[in-house]
Amino acid sequence: MSRHYDVVIAGAGIIGLSTALFLRERGLSVAVFDKGEVAYEQSGRNWGWMRTIGQDMAELELALASRPLWRQWAAEGDFGFRQCGLVSLAGDEAEWAGLKNWLKHAAGRGLDTRELESADTATLLPQFQRHWAGALFAPGDAGIEPDQAMRFLEKKVLDAGVVMVPGNAIRRIDISGDRACAVETETGRVTADKIVIAAGAWSRWLCKTVGIVIPQLRVTASVLRTTPVEGGPNVNVASTRYCLRPRRDGGYTVARRNSSLTCVTPDSVRFMRQYLPNYLKQKQLLRVRAGTSFFRELQLERRFGPEKSNPFEDFRACDPVPDIETLKETFEYLKEDSPVFRSSRIASSWAGTIDVMPDALPVLSPVARYQGLFLATGFSAHGFGIGPAAGRLMADIVMGEATAASAAPFRLERFHLNDD
Ligand SMILES: Cc1cc2nc3c(=O)[nH]c(=O)nc-3n(C[C@H](O)[C@H](O)[C@H](O)COP(=O)(O)OP(=O)(O)OC[C@H]3O[C@@H](n4cnc5c(N)ncnc54)[C@H](O)[C@@H]3O)c2cc1C
Repeated sequence: MSRHYDVVIAGAGIIGLSTALFLRERGLSVAVFDKGEVAYEQSGRNWGWMRTIGQDMAELELALASRPLWRQWAAEGDFGFRQCGLVSLAGDEAEWAGLKNWLKHAAGRGLDTRELESADTATLLPQFQRHWAGALFAPGDAGIEPDQAMRFLEKKVLDAGVVMVPGNAIRRIDISGDRACAVETETGRVTADKIVIAAGAWSRWLCKTVGIVIPQLRVTASVLRTTPVEGGPNVNVASTRYCLRPRRDGGYTVARRNSSLTCVTPDSVRFMRQYLPNYLKQKQLLRVRAGTSFFRELQLERRFGPEKSNPFEDFRACDPVPDIETLKETFEYLKEDSPVFRSSRIASSWAGTIDVMPDALPVLSPVARYQGLFLATGFSAHGFGIGPAAGRLMADIVMGEATAASAAPFRLERFHLNDD
């Protein structure tokens, strides 16, 4: 390991790795540090959907641009990529109106999404007995095995010459004048011309080391894996009762969209104004719990600082406890609607901590206050599918080559929390 790189990246999830890859392809020396194992947090634990349906208009371009990149990577290595499509099912007329409204806005952007007649839905999903108010189908959406894809990507960046440093937390960013110039790691100081914070749910804490505020909160989401299912659906399915992806092991990854949990913390109080409008619109998607987490986090903040301890080494591997009751209920809904699942069992379950932003859009941005400091974070539960194109855009931003139009929706300045 050298003591200087053109670019140092904090975080070896899909965003850190794909950014590193595209920067390395431009000839820069790049090192990626992770406090734990590569892809142990969100990027290795997600549902494995690469979807366009339901994406915010600002992100559709990234979603569409990621499709050919995933296909190209899948031609280079086998990580269970399947362009199996995604069906989004509406349980009632209100949901159906929402889906149709999304399609109306997305029209003309090069999408393959179409409305399905109920006979088409029955043909595509003969395993389901339920009546749906309507359905959209995107044949170009895909399913990916996240852990295998991340092993593939890790090897690809290593082969490209990126230096990977797992198990080595970045404790803080060093500033000299108005420039970010180095990272303090567990094993010493490493200087860099440019530093990218791609630390997922920890980005808020890393930003605190240089006094930059990002209104990022954390949400916990639970997932289950079934035992193999004979004759199950071959497409990804989205509904409010359950979401699923066929796995290459013959089972399914299953979860519920509206089962995420967030705890009240000092940050949720601080950022209430930013989150309230979106929360009120989508209350049913999130459960809020008040409890000891508020005081735990307050204590953590007091212990945190350059000369004190930091949370990165204390919580090297973020592995929350899954909400097994909600998962069991979700699996029961699935068995109720689709008899093929009745003989399968829950083989395993897990949870992940999602980094969310008030407008559910990521921050892909330079930090105006400090030259050489960049953020790539806050993917709000959909950064895996769009990860390849998001990494490419981030590399453009770092190189100063991104067009204003492509980068504008993701600027940090949209929150006005760091205005001097
Ligand atoms: C249950 C679940 C289901 C999801 N389903 C989907 C889906 O189907 N499709 C989709 O597109 N998205 C999905 N997502 C979201 C997606 O997984 C994330 O948006 C994406 O993986 C974010 O990648 P990332 O690289 O930004 O963060 P992460 O993968 O979380 O990586 C951040 C890394 O930074 C490291 N780090 C943190 N602090 C430091 C530090 N100080 N020093 C060094 N390293 C540090 C961490 O250890 C971690 O490895 C899901 C997420 C979850 C949890």
